[in-house]
Amino acid sequence: MGLFSRKSDPPLGALPTAPLPQPAAPPQPLAGELPCSAKGCSNTTGVACSYVDRRNRRCRTAWCPEHQFLVNGKCYCRRHANTVDAVGDQEHTTYGFAMPDLSNRAPSLVRWVANDITDRVEEILERYRTPGEQYRRERVHAVRSVDGSVRWEVTWQLFDHTGSRVRISIEVRESSPTTLSARVGQLIVYSETPPWILHRERNEEMVPETDVRERDMFYDMLLKAVEEHLKDSDEPY
Ligand SMILES: [Zn+2]
Ligand SMILES: [Zn+2]
Repeated sequence: MGLFSRKSDPPLGALPTAPLPQPAAPPQPLAGELPCSAKGCSNTTGVACSYVDRRNRRCRTAWCPEHQFLVNGKCYCRRHANTVDAVGDQEHTTYGFAMPDLSNRAPSLVRWVANDITDRVEEILERYRTPGEQYRRERVHAVRSVDGSVRWEVTWQLFDHTGSRVRISIEVRESSPTTLSARVGQLIVYSETPPWILHRERNEEMVPETDVRERDMFYDMLLKAVEEHLKDSDEPY
């Protein structure tokens, strides 16, 4: 129970949100001399992405002031801004066992999806919440299994003084970094590769409207699977 500090947990409906890092806004964009890596951008005022992984490899992208993402005053590409925001940077890592590999998309993907669906997960939990229960959303964090494998997850839960009652989480395993799974309690109720990743793997160009529609459908299916399980089960989760 030490994890839960009831006094500091905000009531449902007044939750702190964790927005995605936004492209840097004035007054402190960083300007350099590298060609920008953004598709179609011809600026040569790019600054290198600051990400360095546990094997001391650097990200090879650079971003102009219009396309860069700043975290703690440093320039990152979108993926690594998400990674650093999830796990901290080299000096302030909350990962516990060195920075994820350069190509590790798991923390970024989990964080991205969590932010997209968090309002809807809150709505679901609100319906299942009993009087006196608190709500909590955890940040993206790594969980190491007994077999040594690592998964990245975000958890939403309802709990009271006896502990967690309803627990919904999404996760991506490092060994299967394109598969997003959802759990209710310990049970995996959904596991799929998101459509935008399938398109990227096939090098398919996406129309933005189609992309949005497919994302919505993906989230609908994921949340439907979660709710079906909540409805069907009388057990605590
Ligand atoms: Zn640019
Ligand atoms: Zn990067």
